[in-house]
Amino acid sequence: MSGHAIVIGGGIGGLAAAVALRRIGWRATVLERAPALGEIGAGMSQAPNAMRALDELGVGEQARAEGVPSYSAGNLRLPDGRHLQRARRGDATPLLAFHRADLHRVLLQAVPVGWVRTGMEITGLRQGGDGVTVTWDGGEASADLVIGADGIHSTVRRVVWPDVPPPRFLGRTAWLGIADISAIPGGPGVHTTPPDELSGSITMGPSGYFLIHPISRGRAYWAFVTTADRPDLRYGQEKPEVTRRLAAWHHPIPALIAATPDEAVLHIDIRDLDPLPTYIRGRVALLGDAAHAMSPDRGQGAGQSIEDAVVLAAALHAEPGIDAALARYDAERRPRTQATARGARADGRRTTSPAAHRALVTMIRLMPAPLWRKGIAADGNATWRWRPPRLPEATTHA
Ligand SMILES: Cc1cc2nc3c(=O)[nH]c(=O)nc-3n(C[C@H](O)[C@H](O)[C@H](O)COP(=O)(O)OP(=O)(O)OC[C@H]3O[C@@H](n4cnc5c(N)ncnc54)[C@H](O)[C@@H]3O)c2cc1C
Repeated sequence: MSGHAIVIGGGIGGLAAAVALRRIGWRATVLERAPALGEIGAGMSQAPNAMRALDELGVGEQARAEGVPSYSAGNLRLPDGRHLQRARRGDATPLLAFHRADLHRVLLQAVPVGWVRTGMEITGLRQGGDGVTVTWDGGEASADLVIGADGIHSTVRRVVWPDVPPPRFLGRTAWLGIADISAIPGGPGVHTTPPDELSGSITMGPSGYFLIHPISRGRAYWAFVTTADRPDLRYGQEKPEVTRRLAAWHHPIPALIAATPDEAVLHIDIRDLDPLPTYIRGRVALLGDAAHAMSPDRGQGAGQSIEDAVVLAAALHAEPGIDAALARYDAERRPRTQATARGARADGRRTTSPAAHRALVTMIRLMPAPLWRKGIAADGNATWRWRPPRLPEATTHA
């Protein structure tokens, strides 16, 4: 079976969907509201499950060339710098860390020229017969299938799933940044041989944590996730605010923030979606954050969107018709993504409540190092062990 899909949203999920559709001989049109695709966002890590999905899309090698091994989960610290667990020289790590823009570019390079149209904000959808029509200011287009990959505040979800509540604020907020680490002691060139200050770490405070991932080209991605009484609280200047909050935390945390350009400090409230009853309605499928936006505590949001793309394409390839393929996609993806989102929400609660923090710190401190290392090894958890369905070898399009 082949056909034409309109993918709404050109983020990591939308581009992964386009690459996956290309693999099965479908045509796709990606409609992205931003005027251009570029250097947006901060960093992220990808675990083995997502890397296998990227392999299946034929871009694993290119992605690995952009990723840097991160020992974040191996180096757990307290704000005064003491280690609860510490990676050793020679340890392996299953996590690769990226600038979001680098991973996005790897996917974009695998999308045929002409498939992505920017500056196209979709405002409406209607279904009829065997197809779907999407509309934007001044135009419309139809396809056999529409994939809503338009993120946590998805228009597709709002229009086609009007019964579903909007994303839920989780009482937490995050500051993120990309620092140039050349000026920081223990800077570039040393971050792939743990232990050192910039090989990746998580510092656990009583009401939040600070994450460091080394990323390519002498940079580090950092994120501070903490509690917030209400959403949309902004400080005018975000860098002085996060600097003030973390001034007494161990090196290199204040140095990393100082090495981040003011305008590169992002501030995002943490929200997720309650489980949707279905990811498909008629010929419309949701994918990525549009379907299952999750709190970032398991580092899985984008990875799950890449998995979605592979599973959707595999179902379209294997099933005799689109409706059967969509039913299969929904049945395969909902349990896994919703369990991951549930787990991430629970992890988030544990890391930002003082009482839960004390219990967690005691548990980690008491855990023998070999046991801890086993838990964070490549096959350490069920989420990471996932294997993608096989897609056919690349099909080329004019
Ligand atoms: C602090 C933080 C840390 C994170 N860390 C990680 C991590 O380490 N690993 C990981 O895998 N994930 C992580 N995530 C999650 C990850 O960022 C998201 O899950 C992922 O980017 C979602 O991709 P997406 O393509 O589904 O949505 P998006 O990236 O939001 O893309 C949606 C696209 O749709 C476009 N769009 C929206 N509306 C319309 C419209 N009406 N018409 C046309 N286009 C539209 C948008 O402009 C955008 O380009 C993190 C998230 C946060 C907040």
